[in-house]
Amino acid sequence: MLQDSTLKIGISACVAGEKVRFDRGMKPSGFVLKQLIEHCELVKFCPEMSIGLGVPRETLRLVGNINGVEVVQPKTGNKYHEQLAQLVPDNHDTFSKLSGYIVCKASPSCGMERVKVYLENGMRSDVQGVGAFTAALMQRFPWLPVEEDGRLNDPILRENFVTRIFTLHRFQQQVLNGAAKDLVNFHTQHKFLILSHSPELYYQMGKLVAQQGEHPWHEVVVNYRSMLMRAMAKPASKKRHVNVLEHMQGFFKDSLGASDKQELSRLIQSYRIGEQPLMAPMTLIKHYAKETANPFLLQQYYFQPYPKELPLRYGL
Ligand code: SF4
Repeated sequence: MLQDSTLKIGISACVAGEKVRFDRGMKPSGFVLKQLIEHCELVKFCPEMSIGLGVPRETLRLVGNINGVEVVQPKTGNKYHEQLAQLVPDNHDTFSKLSGYIVCKASPSCGMERVKVYLENGMRSDVQGVGAFTAALMQRFPWLPVEEDGRLNDPILRENFVTRIFTLHRFQQQVLNGAAKDLVNFHTQHKFLILSHSPELYYQMGKLVAQQGEHPWHEVVVNYRSMLMRAMAKPASKKRHVNVLEHMQGFFKDSLGASDKQELSRLIQSYRIGEQPLMAPMTLIKHYAKETANPFLLQQYYFQPYPKELPLRYGL
């Protein structure tokens, strides 16, 4: 049974396999329904159904220009932008418990980017838009990882999204209602994971953690969450992974023999030049961390930022 601590993902209901599209169709995501669902609760939501449009229904589209867009039903001329955007504050309590949101591509209500916009005369505009509901969602919860169903087919984007939602969920569980020591622990355990995405933000976050006593706790938490999610949204690159691996290697300076250190250096070099996947040096470092009983390395979420059953790990 799902607990309150279960990771919750908002999702366009049609992507979760519900027949709520204008034509009674759906757009089920295999990744979500076969894999991700084993590790989270899906909070299914159809904005167009929620404002009272039934199934089937006449289609909607974004109409406008560079100065702004409106959700319009061409057949009736009815406008729905405000109602769709208002769903976000109206459901604030539900959405504020989420650790991520998966939206349906290209929809004038749910699309996250590059949604077609039409001119008043029905011709295509050069402008591209964002679905009215998703625009309001991203504005109210700027830290929330939001991704489109189509983009989740890209292995790098998929892994980044999954890493972000599990990282945010740990933050929500460990820090949001916690105390100063919980933030210190969180920051410590995520050191190498954050460094692999954004060293610059990691050091800014470190300053915030060190000076947390000088600011109201709520302000510290909100600022840390904002920086954390901005950092995690940056793709982890091979160069940053190599820096992290070499940094971790430094922990074995006095605890490993010369041949073990050489083996690890060779493996990191092989990863750098593309002969080995990231998992090779990472697995060896984890092995050495266990062998030398290094508590700092063993607590790092860098080794496993999401459940190991999700077969995503580092296409890099
Ligand atoms: S794209 Fe959004 S509004 Fe359209 S059917 Fe799916 S959930 Fe409903």
